[in-house]
Order: sequence, then structure tokens, then C-alpha cells
Amino acid sequence: MSLADFPRIQFCHGMTPLEPMPRLSHHLGGPSIFIKRDDCTGLATGGNKARKLEFLVADAIGQHADTLIAIGATQSNHARQTAAAAAKAGLNCHLILERRVEGFGEDYAQSGNTLLNHLFGAKVHDVPAGANPQDMAETVATALREQGKHPYIIPGGGSNALGALGYVVCANELIAQSRTLGISLDALIHATGSAGTQAGLVAGMTSESPLTSVVGCSVRFAKETQEEKVWNIACDTNTLLDSSVVAKRDQVIVDDRFIGEGYGIPTPAMLDAVQLTARLEGILLDPVYTGKAMAALIGMIREGRWSKQDNVVFLHTGGTPALFAYRQYMSA
Ligand SMILES: *Cc1c(COP(=O)(O)O)cnc(C)c1O
Repeated sequence: MSLADFPRIQFCHGMTPLEPMPRLSHHLGGPSIFIKRDDCTGLATGGNKARKLEFLVADAIGQHADTLIAIGATQSNHARQTAAAAAKAGLNCHLILERRVEGFGEDYAQSGNTLLNHLFGAKVHDVPAGANPQDMAETVATALREQGKHPYIIPGGGSNALGALGYVVCANELIAQSRTLGISLDALIHATGSAGTQAGLVAGMTSESPLTSVVGCSVRFAKETQEEKVWNIACDTNTLLDSSVVAKRDQVIVDDRFIGEGYGIPTPAMLDAVQLTARLEGILLDPVYTGKAMAALIGMIREGRWSKQDNVVFLHTGGTPALFAYRQYMSA
């Protein structure tokens, strides 16, 4: 089936802007940096999950679901965007939120995405760190079925082949935008977690623009594990699309050097990157994903990875509400 044939609900405003970052580029003295503004997708402060949910929620409705179930960490952006998507589509929403990051206090527990989940009317199930949220989702789904409801469990982070189609769409936008600007895009850098974003980009980029390398900056798993996750979903995505041009394993590149102590735990380089981007470009990153990915981009530029003639795109995947959950670090 071709991309246009998949059922899709519109949650995004449309094509997100591709903007230059002249002051940051000048400051770093390396390649020209552009930013793809997926923090402006449109749904409930934006972010990358809106693109995936356009396909996933359409699938849920196609299966006559009346309730969406999403899983994630306490400050999951995916959960917040799912709660908003459910509200917009007229569906109920249950969120299974794992206390994956402990000891961050009141703001982490109550503000940012958590506050927004309640505003969208989602039912939140709080589970301790290490509990299996997927099992918990099945338990909630069973209980709902017994009440005569029709639940649809969204995969973690919206990452399966169907969700990844959202990033095949984004890859197509980038190809069109680079043509309009008359520039080549030499590399695309972004944060990778549940792997669907990178998988969709790789699946989308290979068919039309083989020269662009896509580098995922891991926020949780080691390089090999993450590359395998991305690769598996990229292959499934190509299968779903019956693509004749298929991604190659060595096109999946993950950099895991900027994770720090672990998922959601701040690093000095992340704090510097968030501050630098705010002060030079007036753009808000987030502490869990885009801040670490920008730290990675800055690190790679300082290593001399690209020349001044190159154009590098930073994909802003959203996450802004989490800034408020990390107030104790951000206000320092
Ligand atoms: C989920 C998320 C990512 C990671 O995308 P995946 O498709 O899960 O790899 C990056 N940035 C933000 C802000 C996110 O919420």
C-alpha cells in the first residue's frame, strides 16, 4: 500500500517549518544548522508523537475502538499527546505511567506533562519503576473489555511500522523543503527513544535521498541495542509500504555518548545546550530528548565532523512541557 492510502486523522497543522539557526551556527563555527520544527506539529504543544498518532488513532477508529491506552514514563510526551489526540477524536484515554525516574520531587510528579494529562481528562495509572507497563496495559484492557469497552493499546512511544509512517511523511517534507531551498541536507540529527522516529526517517530517506545520513542520539539504550530497534521497525515500515528501495543496515546510525547516567537524568552538556539554544535562537528544547540531542550535535560539530559548507538539520521532536517538570535544574 502506498503512503497516501493509509487511513489518517489530521492532528498536525501541516508541514512544519525548516528554519535556519544563524546565530547558533555562527557561534559554533561549523556547518550551517537548520532546525525542522516538529515542536510545532500542532497537537497540545506539539512534538513528534502527533505525526505517529495520525496513523495509529485512525487505525484504532477503523477497529471501532472507543478507548486509547498509552504507556510511558511519568513525564512521557507520548502519553500527553495521546491524551490530547483521544480528546480530539472523542475517545477515552488511559495512561500507564512508569515512575522510571525517581527522586525528582513535586514538579516532576505534578507539573509539565502530568498536569496536561489531567487537563485532557485522561485516566492515569501510576506504576512503580521496573514494573512491566506493557503487562499493566493488557490488564487495563482486559478490565475495560469486561465492562463492554473497546480498548486499543498504542505501542510504546507510538513506535511500530504504522506509527513510523508519520516520519516517512516528515522525510518527504524534508526532501521537498531542501529542493525549495536549493540546498543539500548532509545530515539529520535527532533524539531516539522508542525508535519509530528514526525508523520512519530512514525508511523515507532511502527511497529518495540516499545521501542524507540520519543520526539518532540515544536517550536510553546503548548504540547496538538502539540500532537494532530502529532497524527492525525500519524494515517493517518498508514492508508495510511495499517499498522497492529498502534501507540498508549501515544507514542506521546511533550515537549513545550523550545519555549520561540514564533516561531522564540531566547532564551538564544538556543544560548548556538548552540554555544556548534558548539564548541564541529563542527556541525551547527539553531536558530528556532534544536537550541531549542538541548536546550531541554540538559535541559532533566540535569534533569537526562537518565542514563549513555542509548543511546539518536538527529535528526538534518537541517535549517543551517537560521543562517545567525539571524546574529545579532549569532555574539554576
Ligand atoms: C518520544 C520522543 C522522542 C523519541 O522519538 P522515538 O520515536 O520514541 O524514538 C524524541 N523527542 C521527544 C521530545 C519525544 O517525546
